[in-house]
Amino acid sequence: MSTPDPHSFSDPTQGVITHIRFRLRPDFTARVLRVQAHVRLDRPVTGSLFLDTRHLQIAQIRHADSDLAWSYDREDPILGQRLHLSGLDGVQEFSVESTSSQTAAALQWLEPDQTAGGRHPFLYSQCQSCSARTLFPCQDTPSVRFTYEAEIETPPPLTSVMAAEGLGVSLQGGRVVHRFAMPQPIPSYLFAFAVGNLVFEAVGPRTGIYAEPETIQAAAWEFAENEDRLRAAEALFGPYLWDRYDVLIMPPAFPYGGMENPRLTFLNGAYVQGDRGGTWLVAHELAHAWTGNLVTNATWEDFWLNEGATTYAETRISEIVEGVAASDLRTAGRAQTLLRDFDRLGPQSPMTRLRLPLAGKDPDESYSNIPYFKGLLLFRQLERAAGRERFDGFLKAYIEAFRFRSITSEAFLEFLEDRLPGVGQVVDVRRWIYEPGLPEGAADVTSSLFDDVLSVEEAYRRGELPSAQRVAGWTTTQQGVFLGRLLPAVPASDCAYFDRLFRLQETKDGALLSRFYELAVRSANREAIPRFEQFFSSVGRYQFHEPVFRALVQEPWSRELARPILERWRHRHHPHTVAAIERILVEAGV
Ligand SMILES: [Zn+2]
Repeated sequence: MSTPDPHSFSDPTQGVITHIRFRLRPDFTARVLRVQAHVRLDRPVTGSLFLDTRHLQIAQIRHADSDLAWSYDREDPILGQRLHLSGLDGVQEFSVESTSSQTAAALQWLEPDQTAGGRHPFLYSQCQSCSARTLFPCQDTPSVRFTYEAEIETPPPLTSVMAAEGLGVSLQGGRVVHRFAMPQPIPSYLFAFAVGNLVFEAVGPRTGIYAEPETIQAAAWEFAENEDRLRAAEALFGPYLWDRYDVLIMPPAFPYGGMENPRLTFLNGAYVQGDRGGTWLVAHELAHAWTGNLVTNATWEDFWLNEGATTYAETRISEIVEGVAASDLRTAGRAQTLLRDFDRLGPQSPMTRLRLPLAGKDPDESYSNIPYFKGLLLFRQLERAAGRERFDGFLKAYIEAFRFRSITSEAFLEFLEDRLPGVGQVVDVRRWIYEPGLPEGAADVTSSLFDDVLSVEEAYRRGELPSAQRVAGWTTTQQGVFLGRLLPAVPASDCAYFDRLFRLQETKDGALLSRFYELAVRSANREAIPRFEQFFSSVGRYQFHEPVFRALVQEPWSRELARPILERWRHRHHPHTVAAIERILVEAGV
């Protein structure tokens, strides 16, 4: 399939990479990754082959016993450097030796004090969206898939893991060598590995947890229900085709909630909360095994196909594991967040379309809730129009038809019309995908748990502060949705009251804390700032911090606090997190 991808120099009509044999040698002193890659193509290539790279140092490229001619012949600030292999004469396999730069976007090298144990360094990769090219030359587009084998060489006692099948470990010349194979074809953005002081604990026949020894017990308890989630998901979406579903607990500096690396979800350690309150995120990352990893967006402009479908699939798993009311409450909270995002971006902003116009833009910089939450609401509308039973049949057929393939928004629409004729028109699906904003009423979601939040809010608006007894049974999601409804601001003393009421000093729920700190800044509740700084210093998830920094720079009283807080903790965070917060500060002139 050749889909013109605005974020790749590659041209799949020249030939497609189908398999790579890797040898990876992380150098913790020099902070570079040395890579030997033996690349196989789907057919003999004659003439030229274009590959994506970014700041790679290439030692040599060879075919059989001879060197191949190559050059970096184009360069772009977003795409990187085009590697041009030229003069090819029926070449179907070649090997490349390369070294990543010290600032490779796909790698984060953590000092021991940035880990839970504090004694060993930690390294991990994060290739989504366009960073696999900072590790090895590739066709770095989600429309090309390949299988791979890999060996990772590490100094003992460090262990390596991969989003692949583990084949065993051996000692070679004082180095530990782990071997892996990935028999299912993946797009480059799902290539992933990590190196650290890691142990494993099984929580079910196909499910387990990798974590530092200091967190393994707590994590194994937190995610003890993963096998149930896996079974629930299979009942909904068809057989799980990736063999195992393990979770790797990431050090705090990990900038995302989770990353759906196949077979091995990378999950932010902040979600080991001690109350199983954040386990919906596992449902989300697990759902990607079908929507995203199996049926993949052809380009990042079609990102809603990955994230909208997955957020919807997540709610269906959550309905089974947590109940409909809890799942719909979360959807109601997301609809609320979405409406605030629309306000911020402007009702006519093209960034509120589902299909995003990303040519000339960095997909990571354009990241927002829209593909997730607007996508979720669209899938709910489609389900409602088709009826649940028919829609479930459609989803299974969709996954079956496109598994291990990458598709565009147009291909989705064609399949929808083919299998559920007329449903697209009822929902006005093209408007959802190609136009900004949200159809009237689409954000209306009800749930008994949400109704309870609304009734407490109404009483508060009439001047009645809720008693501890009134909200005693509330979940942290209810607390967070309630605080979100109080935005933009309440009197500072009321904000402090809610802090005590929900015992926020004791909670480890990052999403709830983030919502509270945003409200606290907007409400000039100054005592909350040192706690926010402590939170910022210890939790890496960018999405928790972004709304708080936005509030900090917009409120005159707190404007000057934002820059010093970022500067004091910049070194603890992933470059993505720092860059994203930096953009908020610079746009505000701080
Ligand atoms: Zn996702």
